[in-house]
Amino acid sequence: MCGIVAYLGNRDAYPILIEGLRKLEYRGYDSAGVALMQDDHIQMYKKKGRVDELDQYCSGRDTRGTAGIAHTRWATHGEPNEENAHPHIAEDGSMALIHNGIIENYLSLKKQLIQEGFTFKSETDTEVLVHLIKSIQKKEDVALPEAVMMALSMVEGTYALAILSVDDPDRLIVAKKGSPLLIGRDGHDYFVGSDGAPIVEYTQDVVYLEDGDVGVIKRGKALKIRNINDEKHLLKRPSFQKLELSLEQLEKGGFDTYMLKEIFEQPKAVIDSMRGRINLKKDVVSLGGIIEYEQKMLNARRFIIVACGTSWHAGLVAEHLFETLVRIPVEVEYASEFRYRDPIIREDDVLIAISQSGETADTLAAVEIGKKHGATVIGICNVVGSTLARETMAGSYTHAGPEIGVASTKAFTAQVTVLTLMALSLAEKKGTISKSQYHQLINDLESIPNKISQVLEQEQHIQRIAQYVATKPNAMFLGRGVNFPVALEGALKLKEISYIHAEGYPAAEIKHGPIALVDTNMPVIVIATEQKTYDKVVSNIQEIIARKGTIISVVTEGDTAVKKMSKFCIEIPKTEELLTPLVASVPLQLLAYHVAVIRDCDVDKPRNLAKSVSVE
Ligand code: GLU
Repeated sequence: MCGIVAYLGNRDAYPILIEGLRKLEYRGYDSAGVALMQDDHIQMYKKKGRVDELDQYCSGRDTRGTAGIAHTRWATHGEPNEENAHPHIAEDGSMALIHNGIIENYLSLKKQLIQEGFTFKSETDTEVLVHLIKSIQKKEDVALPEAVMMALSMVEGTYALAILSVDDPDRLIVAKKGSPLLIGRDGHDYFVGSDGAPIVEYTQDVVYLEDGDVGVIKRGKALKIRNINDEKHLLKRPSFQKLELSLEQLEKGGFDTYMLKEIFEQPKAVIDSMRGRINLKKDVVSLGGIIEYEQKMLNARRFIIVACGTSWHAGLVAEHLFETLVRIPVEVEYASEFRYRDPIIREDDVLIAISQSGETADTLAAVEIGKKHGATVIGICNVVGSTLARETMAGSYTHAGPEIGVASTKAFTAQVTVLTLMALSLAEKKGTISKSQYHQLINDLESIPNKISQVLEQEQHIQRIAQYVATKPNAMFLGRGVNFPVALEGALKLKEISYIHAEGYPAAEIKHGPIALVDTNMPVIVIATEQKTYDKVVSNIQEIIARKGTIISVVTEGDTAVKKMSKFCIEIPKTEELLTPLVASVPLQLLAYHVAVIRDCDVDKPRNLAKSVSVE
C-alpha cells in the first residue's frame, strides 16, 4: 500500500522526495506529505489529494534541506484528511515519522499513552508510534535509535517507517516489518523507498531491509543495521546488491498491469483483512467496527445483503457462510433492483452493504432505504472514509489496499474474508457452531493465503489453457453451492476484460436451458472441488461431455475422476468447503486475465467500464 521516500545526502532533498512520490503514485493513495530537516527544526507540509497538489502548495514555500522524508498515504485508520496524512510529528515538534502498514495493537497502546498525558492529533494508528517512541525516550533515557527499537518490539502489526529528528539533524532512522523498504546508496547519498522506483535513477546499489531491521543512516557515515529480534542488537552487515529492475518495470511493482499485480497481491490482501481480527491465541475473532451493533446482528430476523457486480458475488458467498454458520436467513439483492422494488424491511432486519470503493451509487441508495425503514445498516468497503463508511451505522474495512485495475480481484477475496470473519464471530456468540468447528474454521481461514500462493504458482499452466479459451466466442462457467458464485465471478471476469461472452450457472440448472448452447465449440469451466455435491457435479459434467462440450475443470488436488473427463484441469489445494471460493476464484481470475492479454485487450481499463460506479 502507498509509499515511502526518504533522502539524506549532499543534494536538495525536496525534488528527490516529490519526484519519488510521483514514481510511487501507481500504488494508490489519498493524501501526501513531506518533512524536511532545516537547520534545527523540522518543516512539514501535508495535503489531501494528489502529489501534484502537495507540490503546488509547496512551491514558493521554504523547501530547503538535504534530509527529508515523504509519504503517500492510503488510509487504514482514520479518514483521508490533512490531520491524518503523514508525517506525524511529536508534540514538541522534535521528531517526524512516516509509516506504511497497520499497527494492530494501537488501541491499547493509545490508551496507555493518553494516561501518560500524550495528546493525539490524528485518528491514525501511526501516531501511536510517535508518542510511544517519545515515551520510551523519556522513561529510559536512551538515544533515539534504541528507543525506536524498543518501541517496535512492543508493536504488533506491519510497518515500513522513516524518522527525522532534531536531536541529530544528520540522521535518518528507517525500519521494516511486513511492508517493503529498501535503501540505495550513491557514495554518501542515501535514498530510501518502498520499492526501487524512486531510487533507480540515482543508484542501483541497494539493500533490502529484512523484517525487524532498523537502519540508521548518518551523514557521511556507513549505514548501520540492527534487528529487533536479535536480543543483543548486534550490527548486521548490510548486503548491498544490484537493483535489477528497469524503471519501466517498476512502475507497477514489476507486473505488466495493475490487475496482474492485484491478483498476485491476494495472499497479502487476505492476511491484511484478517490482521488484528483474530487474536494471537487464535481463539477469538472480533471485528472492532461492528462491536456496538453485534447484539442487533445476533438478534436479526434476517440479513439483507445489497451490492453490485463482484461485490454481489461476495454477497452470494456470504449467504452460504451466514446461513450455514449463524443460522439466520439471508437475502442477497442487486442494489439497483432493491432500491426500486418497495422492499419489505423491518426494524429487526440487518442490511449489509458491500462495495469496494464505498461510492457505488446504487448500493448507497439501498443503504438509505434500509435506514429509512429502521433496519440496522452495516457497511463493508475497502476505502476508508468513503460515503458508505460514513452513511452506515457500523462496518468493517477490507484493508485490501488500493485496487486500481477496473476488474475487481483482491477486493473480492478480501470481502469474502471479512464476511467469513463476521459470520464466525456471530456464530460463536450465538452458539450455532461448536467450539471445535469454530477453531477449525479459524485455522482453515488462516491457511488460505498459502493456498492462494500455490494457485498463483500455476500461472503458466493457466496461460496455456487461456490460449485455448481465447479462440472461442463463448464460455460457460458452472458451480454448485458455495461455488456457484465462483462460477458467476469467473464468467464476469472473462466478459469484463476479454469481451468473450460468458455466463455462469448452477451446474444442475443447465438442463433447463443453457445446455442447448453446448457443442464442440463451447468451453465449459466447472468448479468440481471436494464438496457435498461433488458426485452431482460429476453427473453434470457427464451431461456436457455427452453433448461434446469441452470441460475445463477446477478440482481438489489429487482428484482423478473429473481430471480424466477434462481437456484441461486446474488443481487447487484441499480447502474446507465453505472457504473454497477464496481459493477457487483465483485461477479463474488468472484465466480471464491471460485470455484478455492474448486477445490484446486493455485489461486495466476495459472498454465501457469504470472503477467506481458512482452513477446509477
Ligand atoms: N495505517 C496508517 C494510516 O492509516 C498508514 C496507512 C498507509 O500505509 O498509508 O495512516
